Amino acid sequence: PLYADYIQSHIRTVPDWPQPGVMFRDITPLLQDPKLFRVLVDTFVHRYMDAQLDVVAGVDARGFILGAVVAYELNLGFVPIRKKGKLPYLTVAEEYELEYGSATVEIHTDACKPGDRVLLIDDLVATGGTMLAAYNLLHRLGATVVEGAAIVDLPELGGSKLIRDQGLPLFTICDFA
Ligand code: 5GP
Repeated sequence: PLYADYIQSHIRTVPDWPQPGVMFRDITPLLQDPKLFRVLVDTFVHRYMDAQLDVVAGVDARGFILGAVVAYELNLGFVPIRKKGKLPYLTVAEEYELEYGSATVEIHTDACKPGDRVLLIDDLVATGGTMLAAYNLLHRLGATVVEGAAIVDLPELGGSKLIRDQGLPLFTICDFA
């Protein structure tokens, strides 16, 4: 995309967070600056404005920030995919493996209808576990997930390949080796 280098150059790398050896890619500078925030959101809006979507789903928690604004700009509704235990109504859940242990994501059973065309948004793809779990939830509700989208891909962790191999097209603005 046109502004990929501009966006990438404002992602802050925080070494050894949340644990030693991790280089955390911090996207908060993109939200804080009004011009960057607009360029970021518009990158997604332009990509999906003619995609005939029905709804945008965002993943807890940074996917909420981005997904909600993109949904609003596309004149669509937004549905949250949350970490376990946060959604009050009937849910379906998917457990997935982390480096140490596991995590669970949930969605309300009425978040989308069979056949709905859904855009799935998060901030970053690492191992791909989170996005694939979210994809499975939407799939179980009968939705058509048009694409997964994120700001950042960490291709060396293999997640983006795994996601595409599972049949979900994936769009990311930039990657870090
Ligand atoms: P995965 O499930 O692909 O291994 O990890 C991706 C999930 O963890 C996303 O929900 C993302 O928000 C979070 N995450 C993991 N590493 C990073 C990172 O370096 N920066 C940011 N912003 N999020 C990360």
